[in-house]
Amino acid sequence: MSDLYQRETKCISNMAQLRFFPQAVIGGKGSYLTGDDGRRLLDFSASWGAASLGHAHPHVRDAVARVLTDQAGASYLSSANEPSVLLAEKLLSIAPGRARGRVWLGHSGSDANETVARMVVAATGRRRILAFQGAYHGGTVGSMAVSGHPALQAGARSSGLILVPYPNSYATGKPAIASAAALASLKEVFSKDVRPEEVAAFFIEPLQGDGGLLVPPPDFLAEIEKFCRQHEILLVCDEVKFGLGRTGLLHAFEHSGIEPDIVVFGKGLGGGLPMSAIVGPQPIMNHSPTFSYQTLHGNPACAAAALAVLETIERDGLVKRSAEVGSYMMESLSSRVGGLSLVGEVRGKGLAIGIELVSDRVNRAPAKLQTALTVYRAFQLGLVLYYVGANSNVLELTPPLTLSKGEADDGIAIISQALQDVIDGKVTKELVSQFAGW
Ligand code: PMP
Repeated sequence: MSDLYQRETKCISNMAQLRFFPQAVIGGKGSYLTGDDGRRLLDFSASWGAASLGHAHPHVRDAVARVLTDQAGASYLSSANEPSVLLAEKLLSIAPGRARGRVWLGHSGSDANETVARMVVAATGRRRILAFQGAYHGGTVGSMAVSGHPALQAGARSSGLILVPYPNSYATGKPAIASAAALASLKEVFSKDVRPEEVAAFFIEPLQGDGGLLVPPPDFLAEIEKFCRQHEILLVCDEVKFGLGRTGLLHAFEHSGIEPDIVVFGKGLGGGLPMSAIVGPQPIMNHSPTFSYQTLHGNPACAAAALAVLETIERDGLVKRSAEVGSYMMESLSSRVGGLSLVGEVRGKGLAIGIELVSDRVNRAPAKLQTALTVYRAFQLGLVLYYVGANSNVLELTPPLTLSKGEADDGIAIISQALQDVIDGKVTKELVSQFAGW
């Protein structure tokens, strides 16, 4: 364990920690981080997708530097500033038609989803919200209130929240069965004492991320959209993790051919700086002044970083690149590790890839310990990746959108080696005893 990691334990609280191995970094460029031991670490997480253009991208750096040499304040609460306005204009130009009204800017997926959750109830007068079991919409009280992920405190859930299952094609064996079962559960909710007219909004993830990188069956979200339209329920798409090019389309919801009313962006939007956004219809987004604000919201340096991210994605064709490098990785992973006894399924879209690990391929029993050992071993071999899932058994790959095929090859070689070492019993469980992950 490095000196920096040790020092951290003596000064920083563990409450925000989600650790898988003793990583301590002192720098980074592109797809690589620099460890405090001097090692170069290939980053297949990109800080959970937040470093969407990799680390120290020159356009993000230059945009932030320009703002900080002649700084138009630090907030948009009591003054307009140009980077916030430019960012909002840009977001409106890329938003789906139904959402093209107004933009709210925040710091994180959590504050944005919390704002949506409060706003849709206040603006519609309907008190209930629908969301999926396993959904992660944030770590603040108000965003946990509409989440269904087991790592979030269940006690914080809103009394108006209704959780329904997200289809799990791998667990059920067939996408059509998974879809039918999930839709039947939704119907069941409304066959009892709840009326759809009580529901303000349905929060969806276009792929379920922290719940296990689940790709919905082809028609599933279109059915959800149909249900929402029938009952005038607002469809809120949480694009925080997989939006803005990661899945090989600009918006991840486009894979399902749906058009949400409200779209939430975060993580990769800021290219490594804190920035989130809600885009939605004018009457709802203009609910009332002082409804949801924090001092540094609309910070011009963060807004400029986000604008640089959106411009770079467009200018460098990163959506297409994500689709290409992503399908290259899917093919390579399927052929190199897909046949290993520990690998249940390789799935994903673009550069959002999950590898579900099982201890038994017939009954698909989750291989929780082996998953923890695999990411630990990969770290030892020079690759950063973490895991997700209600059963903590899905390796998650969300590398920078700028990843090259050569870097993809290098990372996949490490994943393959790490899995083989775990299968061969070369990685001992004591290594992960201090790393609970989630
Ligand atoms: N929505 C989704 C889909 C997420 O995956 C996350 C974070 N895992 C959030 C919201 C919350 O984002 P943040 O942690 O940046 O607040």
